[in-house]
Amino acid sequence: MRLIKKTISAVFACVALASVSMTSQATAQGNILERRVIGTSIQGRPIEAIHMGDPKGVTVAVIGVIHGNEEAGLLITDELVNMQIPKGVNLWVIPTINPDGTALDRRGNANRVDLNRNFPYGWARIGQPGYWQYAGPSRASEPETKAIVAFFREIKPALGLWYHQDLNIISPGVGFEGEIRARYGAITGLPMKRITGGTYTGVAATWQKHGLKNSMAFVVELGKTLSVDEAKVHASAVLDISMMLRDSLSSKLGK
Ligand SMILES: [Zn+2]
Repeated sequence: MRLIKKTISAVFACVALASVSMTSQATAQGNILERRVIGTSIQGRPIEAIHMGDPKGVTVAVIGVIHGNEEAGLLITDELVNMQIPKGVNLWVIPTINPDGTALDRRGNANRVDLNRNFPYGWARIGQPGYWQYAGPSRASEPETKAIVAFFREIKPALGLWYHQDLNIISPGVGFEGEIRARYGAITGLPMKRITGGTYTGVAATWQKHGLKNSMAFVVELGKTLSVDEAKVHASAVLDISMMLRDSLSSKLGK
């Protein structure tokens, strides 16, 4: 809970500074282009997306939290919003798509739906309210899921990173996506190992890959804890693989 308060006060601090002067705004916000509310949770909390970098660049989306009680990713999104974004990278940072779960320190949303089983690709009924992987009454039934689906259809991310805890691994991938997963693992020290132990229907990253055209996505399973120094390494890894993707796409286009 301490972590949540820190993030929220950091957001307010940035908003407050923005009205002071152009100089302090530039210092406090790095190269933030826009803060947009892309949806509202069941309990009325805003779902915020922070736009940074080069709008003409390759689009990368970073989601700090989907399971409300796995909040270490907020430390990484906090770092990213203060960083200078490399040329040719169009970054959207979404600290939490589950603000009710984050506030309640609960895996699911206020309806106790596991949002990472509610996405509209390969959705299947799982359990009932109270079950840890309850998938909701129907595909994309939850306002938080609908908000992300609509937003991603608009911004069309070439890459999405979804943070979870606390298995401390990244699943290996194939092709270029496998290369960027491995690179992320090499920078952060996370071992490459397949994620097991749940039922994986209606998963957000899987929907992103199959529901959107030319979109890559992967899950980063952080450990039980994450220090600020480790979060800085993760934020650098995000920018590193974003540049890798940018360079690969521009060489494909023969630029
Ligand atoms: Zn999770």
